[in-house]
Amino acid sequence: MTRRTRVRFAPSPTGPLHMGGVRTALYNYLYAKQKGGDFIIRIEDTDSQRFVSGAEQYIIESLRWCGIIPDEGVDMTTGEVVKEPSAKHPHAPYRQSERKSIYRKYAEQLVESGNAYYAFDTAEELGKARAEAEAAGQTFIYNASTRGSLRNSLNMSAEEVAKLLQERTDWTIRFKMPQNRIVAMDDMIRGHVEVNSSTLDDKVLWKRADELPTYHLANIVDDHLMEISDVIRGEEWLPSLPLHYLLYEAFGWSDTMPRFAHLPLLLKPVGNGKLSKRDGDKMGFPVFPLNWQNSEGETYHGYREDGYFPEAFVNLLAMLGWNPGTEQELFTMSELVEAFSIEHVSKSGAKFNPDKAKWFNKEYLRKKSGEELADLFSVILEQKGIKAERDYVVKVCELVKERVSFVKEIWDVASYLFVAPTSYNEKDVAKFWKAENYVPAMEIALIIADEGMEKAEQTIRDRALPMGKIMNCIRLALVGASSGLGIGDIFALIGREEFLKRIENIQKVLG
Ligand code: GLU
Repeated sequence: MTRRTRVRFAPSPTGPLHMGGVRTALYNYLYAKQKGGDFIIRIEDTDSQRFVSGAEQYIIESLRWCGIIPDEGVDMTTGEVVKEPSAKHPHAPYRQSERKSIYRKYAEQLVESGNAYYAFDTAEELGKARAEAEAAGQTFIYNASTRGSLRNSLNMSAEEVAKLLQERTDWTIRFKMPQNRIVAMDDMIRGHVEVNSSTLDDKVLWKRADELPTYHLANIVDDHLMEISDVIRGEEWLPSLPLHYLLYEAFGWSDTMPRFAHLPLLLKPVGNGKLSKRDGDKMGFPVFPLNWQNSEGETYHGYREDGYFPEAFVNLLAMLGWNPGTEQELFTMSELVEAFSIEHVSKSGAKFNPDKAKWFNKEYLRKKSGEELADLFSVILEQKGIKAERDYVVKVCELVKERVSFVKEIWDVASYLFVAPTSYNEKDVAKFWKAENYVPAMEIALIIADEGMEKAEQTIRDRALPMGKIMNCIRLALVGASSGLGIGDIFALIGREEFLKRIENIQKVLG
């Protein structure tokens, strides 16, 4: 029987979602959609010490902006994580803190089957054991090599255990890591991996103090209950994989254990190492999907606020670590759904290239119609207090869209189409504003105004005038610099009256 594909994105709301996290969500989404399966969001918030308020909403808003829409876990009309089970959301609640009551019995089931035990060591006792090991030049590890001399139910009578469970509120349940077992695992990206269990420790699964599971227990129990078929997550979770394999085995769930894929890291643009939130600030590119302000008031840039289109962001993320096996670089979401494959995800880290990120945005901007760009650019014009006819804005956008990578740059290259220059670029003036050029240029400008561009160009040729220099003088008058659109285009946009005003003005200002 083939299993229905069900994948989950399981973020912990410990801060804003890094672009690497969005990529993990994206790959999960593409994988599920391609197979006609389900993409689930589960919020892993059992570590109350690392909880950051606002992070969960940030994660959901980021995914929405990208068009990574969950089938289960979040109510898309309200944007809320679902609390009550329903036909659409059968496994609610999807926030682990609201599933608190589920986990204890699973931890205790492992104690009963001999795969886990109660540990009563205090923080001081553990600190002491650690210090002693260090003094002997070793690292302390709570497992078969040490557990016999530590305070846990394996070394106590049943009565003593029962008494301590009653009296104390700081005990934990630990996994009893088998000794010297080769755990053989398969990863869809990394292939076959083997680890000797003696290198691993007896991880805490459940804590009496807050009656909460740790990540490992909650993650495995929920993946099982939510019938997850494939786990696609960041490489930082690979070291946890042997424990997860052993937990499935201990629960007797090996038959329905999901398949695993661990995604490569996103690397810094230069040098080595993981792309960090500080890199963005240092090198001037966003590392987060949306702007974020932390509790210290520090702000981090987001792709959205920096003017990236969500389609461009999704496309560039898709290409960081995956390739289609062809030369194609531009993909819509539905094309990605079709083309994506885990087999084409690379094992090695993906170097982030900020210039390439801009290139993606430029490509998407070019594909937009003048109308679409005008919708976005109008907001900028409004902020600047500039009033312009809609048709005019559309025309401007159409004319300049090949020259910019972001909508906000339209202003940088086209402001003169909305406001007349009041000063003139000094270098250009020194270069072009010479009597031998501007005297004929001003005459030619009048021909443009009265008889049109063609006639003006004909006159320049007939009189053997220097075409480039003449045009640059006129452009200087219209733009304030010798760069910009063709004179004919500018004339058509600003109209005869404004054109003549600018020709007159430059003569007044520069003499
Ligand atoms: N809560 C974990 C995280 O924040 C999930 C890891 C997993 O997908 O198993 O990344």
